[in-house]
Amino acid sequence: MPKTKFPPLVAGNWKMNGTLASLEEIDKLKEHLKNADPACDIMICPPFTLLFPMSERLGDSRIAMGGQDCHWEVSGAHTGDVAAEMIAETGAAACIVGHSERRADHGETDEIVSRKAAAAHRAGLVAIICIGETIEEREAGKTLDVISTQLKGSVPSGSDAANTIIAYEPVWAIGTGHTPTTEQVAEVHAHIRKELAGIVGAEEAEGMRILYGGSVKPANAAELMSVENVNGALVGGASLKADDFFGIIKAYM
Ligand code: PEP
Repeated sequence: MPKTKFPPLVAGNWKMNGTLASLEEIDKLKEHLKNADPACDIMICPPFTLLFPMSERLGDSRIAMGGQDCHWEVSGAHTGDVAAEMIAETGAAACIVGHSERRADHGETDEIVSRKAAAAHRAGLVAIICIGETIEEREAGKTLDVISTQLKGSVPSGSDAANTIIAYEPVWAIGTGHTPTTEQVAEVHAHIRKELAGIVGAEEAEGMRILYGGSVKPANAAELMSVENVNGALVGGASLKADDFFGIIKAYM
């Protein structure tokens, strides 16, 4: 079984949810972690508006913070966009790029995702690059081809196990309550590891974390996290409440 260079990561993606009042959940999560020592890294990716206040609230806790998207340029005439450097300035350690909701809602192509991941690297952020097939692609037997294409197109040169994390998120599992079988997860994660070797080299591919995302809940986390080549989770809905998110983190206790 490949040994990644880093501990597994449980990352929460708050999406377009959360106001200042939601930072109470950070306090609750910190409380949960007071007497716990899970064998994983922990991260929350709030909306841009909460990055600075969340950073303050996290203080010196072991919870890291990430952005949910970034522009590929450092600055300029891009109304509404945020540069990776701006995200890094908030104290964030990482940035999600290529989430399927951005690919679908904003027409982001693999090339755009690759440029965003490279921007995250430039700013000193870990790029969490999301890939995953639609239900139509799975039913047509195209899952592994889609994954290969997305990986080749979305992982920029210069990616390594320290600056890049892959998140496999079947589009049909996101926010639906449906999850793939453990066999399906194992098949795709093994394929990702193999394909990464051709992109970043065998050693970096062995060391790179591959997260599973899509309807991870306290009830299914331990089973999903025990699948070979699954090195953590990217969690949407269940990351909004500290009790649920901690229930997932418990898979590593
Ligand atoms: C996500 O959007 O990254 C995600 C995994 O969502 P959920 O956990 O709600 O399915």
